[in-house]
Amino acid sequence: MFAGAKVIILLGPPGSGKGTQAERLSSALGICAISTGEMLRREAQSGSALGKMVQDVLSSGQLVSDNLINRVVAHRLQQADCATGCILDGYPRTVAQAQFLDALLEKWNVPAPVVLNFEIPCEEVVSRLSRRRQCTECGRVYTVSTLSTETGILCDRDGSMLVQRADDHPSTIRERLRIYEKNAGQLINYYRSRDYHRVCATGAPSEIADGLMALLGSQWLPSLSPVVLAEPRA
Ligand code: ADP
Repeated sequence: MFAGAKVIILLGPPGSGKGTQAERLSSALGICAISTGEMLRREAQSGSALGKMVQDVLSSGQLVSDNLINRVVAHRLQQADCATGCILDGYPRTVAQAQFLDALLEKWNVPAPVVLNFEIPCEEVVSRLSRRRQCTECGRVYTVSTLSTETGILCDRDGSMLVQRADDHPSTIRERLRIYEKNAGQLINYYRSRDYHRVCATGAPSEIADGLMALLGSQWLPSLSPVVLAEPRA
C-alpha cells in the first residue's frame, strides 16, 4: 500500500448490505473491495487442511481467530491491487483486529481509515439473511423476494445456480448476530472519535450508495478523475 492510500472500513451486522455497497464503492472509487468472509469461504472450498478447520468455524457461526485473520489480511493488503487503497468488508470485527490494522497502516504511512457503520434493525437482518442466495460461480448475492421461489433461480450474470450459504440458516444466523452484538459496541467505541459515520442501511441499495458517494465525495472527489466517477454497475 502506498502512503496516501485510502482505506474504508464497513462495519455493521451480517446482512446489512456491506458487500453490495463495497462492490459499488469499489467501482465508483477505483479501489478494491476485500471481503474477509469471501476469502475464508474460498479457503474452505479449497479442501486444504486449513480450509477444513475454517469450514468448521464458518458453519458454527463463530469467528476465526484474530491471529489467523490478521495474517490473512496483512498478506492481502500487500497485493498490487491494494496499492491505492481498499474497502474492507467484514474486517476488523474485534478491537484486537482494529488495533492490528492501525499498527499496519501506521507502519506503511497510510492515513487513518474512514469508518462507515451500517445500522439496521435486527428483525430486518434475519429476514434478509434467510432470503439471501449466492451464485455458486461468481459469488454475486441476491435477496429472493419470497421463500417459495427458493428453487430454480439462476444468476443473471452467468446463469449458474444460486444457493443458500450454509451459515444463513436460522440457528446460525442467530449465533452470528449474537457474536456481532458482543463485539460491535467495543469496536464502535474504538472508532467513534475518529473519521466515523453512521449509515442508515434500511433503504434501497442505490439510495444508500448515493448517500455514501455524497459523504465520501466531499472528502475525495477533487482527486478522482471523471472516468473513476462513472455510474457503478448495478
Ligand atoms: P456476514 O457478515 O454476513 O456474517 P461474512 O461473509 O462477512 O458474513 O463472514 C462470514 C464468516 O466468516 C463469519 O461468520 C466468520 O466466521 C468469518 N469471518 C469473516 N471475517 C472475519 C473476521 N474479521 N474475523 C473473524 N472471523 C471472520
